[in-house]
Amino acid sequence: MLQKEDMLQKNEMDDIFEKKLEHSKEIVRQAVKEYEKIAVACSFGKDSMAVVHLAREVAPKIPIFSILTRFKPVETLTYLVEMNNQMNLDPEVYLVAEEVPSILKENNINVNLLPTKKFDEISLEIEKTSGKKIYESNPDICCNLLKVDPAKQAVKDLDAWVCGLRNTEGRTRKDYKEVERRGLVKINPILSWTEEEVLHYLKKNKIALHPWYGKVFPDGRRIRSLGCEPCTVPIFDNQEERDGRWQGTSKCGGECGIHTQTLK
Ligand code: SF4
Repeated sequence: MLQKEDMLQKNEMDDIFEKKLEHSKEIVRQAVKEYEKIAVACSFGKDSMAVVHLAREVAPKIPIFSILTRFKPVETLTYLVEMNNQMNLDPEVYLVAEEVPSILKENNINVNLLPTKKFDEISLEIEKTSGKKIYESNPDICCNLLKVDPAKQAVKDLDAWVCGLRNTEGRTRKDYKEVERRGLVKINPILSWTEEEVLHYLKKNKIALHPWYGKVFPDGRRIRSLGCEPCTVPIFDNQEERDGRWQGTSKCGGECGIHTQTLK
């Protein structure tokens, strides 16, 4: 049972979060008023699910788009379908691939297939010369071809996009602002939320987490930031959330490029 002091502290934290939540909603409200063509980006990680839910609370018809890659865990596709059924997301998916994955086809998910030729040729060349997969040897090129180029397609007709970026996720995210006006306008409504606040918000709104967040490894490590399968590893609680991304490469803990390059 919580002691009186703990209760007071908990109430204080709830108050702080309620204020943050209202502020986040206000950011979305203003953005929707200001920009006619606006959509929310969703990777189906925890932060995306929080920002998608929040945005839909404010603007129930705001469109959602998602950049998938051939290297996403199969659980991400299953989770996408589950969340689509639960939250009526109707996401517009962009994917460099020859065919729509069967689970997405069977569930009538709208997938925009993008040409594979450039990726196939470059990845083959890299494999031949380095003896390694493209994501091991040159993850920047891999992310550019599978994530950044499709993101450019996804936002080409937009005035602004909404993302689940947060300042406390890792070293590359500390300096973002709630509204970024360089190039295509980017709205970051949950920028000041902590990892705990995101998890609290999802629990409160009965949104299940992607199953990978529930895995705890024997040494206590767990997945705290979710990306493509080969580039996501579990980390300890005292590390920064994005430290498990691209481990063993120069990109470790960094960015795929969607948030660092000009998309439009
Ligand atoms: S996260 Fe890894 S597998 Fe996915 S696009 Fe980037 S380098 Fe490739």
